[in-house]
Amino acid sequence: MDLLKQKILTEGEVLDGGVLKVDNFLNHRLDIEFLNEVGLYFNDKFKNAGVNKIITIESSGIAIATITAQYLHVPVVFVKKNVHINLPDDVYIENVQSFTQKKDNKLVIAKKFINKGDKILILDDFLAKGNALNALINMVEKAGANIVGIGIVIEKVFQGGGDRIRERGFDVYSLAKIKSMENNHIVFED
Ligand code: 5GP
Repeated sequence: MDLLKQKILTEGEVLDGGVLKVDNFLNHRLDIEFLNEVGLYFNDKFKNAGVNKIITIESSGIAIATITAQYLHVPVVFVKKNVHINLPDDVYIENVQSFTQKKDNKLVIAKKFINKGDKILILDDFLAKGNALNALINMVEKAGANIVGIGIVIEKVFQGGGDRIRERGFDVYSLAKIKSMENNHIVFED
């Protein structure tokens, strides 16, 4: 997606530890017209996949999932992070190492919102090492639902998560794939 690549080059900031800061349009301030374009791309890719539900992770996944859902006409369920759990039998839980915060996050989703036979589209803002996406896939599989698509806004190919998920047998559709970000120089994969 050329517009996304342009925005990454002009508005993105490479931080230590292989983190790309895009808080001007995706992670803090939301550029809605741009996010609408993201939604149109995901809709175009997944409109014939039979999706009946989108799953994402709070907080940055919610905006892209919501805009895409308007085109696919399906609900969004977002996985919560680190909520207090009263009734563990009612939820699926996965512990995941956070890429940006270097700590563990407890990902939680209510069992009632993910059902056997659901056709799930997973969307997220970034794919780095693949821990978050791997956990989402585990939750969907525990529920006996089907993953009919995975969409990522920015995949950092050099951090290996995409390979890991593709080796697990899933197709990952990423709108921008970053091959390297050394010395503040961002290189995209074709
Ligand atoms: P992973 O689990 O694939 O290592 O990391 C994915 C999660 O970490 C995403 O949900 C995203 O919130 C966060 N993340 C990973 N890399 C980056 C990055 O370069 N910039 C930002 N803003 N978030 C990232």
